[in-house]
Amino acid sequence: MIAFSRVCKRYPGGYEALKDVTLAVAPGELVYVTGHSGAGKSTLLKLAAAIERPTSGSIIVNGQNLAHLRRSALPYLRRHLGLVFQDQKLLFDRSVFDNVMLPLEVSGFDRREAVRRVRAALDKVGLLSKEKARPITLSGGEQQRLAIARAVVGRPSILIADEPTGNLDPESARDILGVFAAFHQVGVTVLLATHDEGILGAHPGRVITLKQGALVS
Ligand code: ADP
Repeated sequence: MIAFSRVCKRYPGGYEALKDVTLAVAPGELVYVTGHSGAGKSTLLKLAAAIERPTSGSIIVNGQNLAHLRRSALPYLRRHLGLVFQDQKLLFDRSVFDNVMLPLEVSGFDRREAVRRVRAALDKVGLLSKEKARPITLSGGEQQRLAIARAVVGRPSILIADEPTGNLDPESARDILGVFAAFHQVGVTVLLATHDEGILGAHPGRVITLKQGALVS
């Protein structure tokens, strides 16, 4: 489902953020990417999501080699990916419901089916009772749940999340990991980066560790 083979990523300016990374994530697997800040976690996730391109090596996602992916093929790839990245801000002038509806509106979904899917996504993250609320009135953990609902409303087969527990207290962080574990349980492939290995304890899944751009375990 996701296969990195001898992947290197050098950013403009010469910094080598990933060095010779080989990694396979099986369909339906839950994998945590850990490592210190600057270890290359975000870079690895951005490569898997085709936000960045590898300098060398191959990356196969859903049977497509991202190193040679045409721009025109990106929308098709992205349809199978749910992304939870820090720079994808919630829209604070729209309701919780509308935030989750937006990706479906953009892809021109039938309105009735879209409404059904938005409610199903909100239900899965435990936010259905807050569909009319503004994101600003939600707690940090709830805002993160909303970001997850938005990412899964298109029913992706792969969910990629960069530090989704970043600014949360330990209890909310464990809660959010539980939400990802629940998607894993229904067959979604999950790739999740966190610098905080301590919160992974009780959760299922495989842990891999990056150190200065190299995979160490
Ligand atoms: P992590 O997510 O583990 O904190 P990153 O993948 O964000 O690590 O960063 C790995 C290294 O690559 C860091 O040294 C960072 O400064 C560098 N880096 C990340 N993005 C860029 C970029 N767009 N341009 C140049 N260097 C970058």
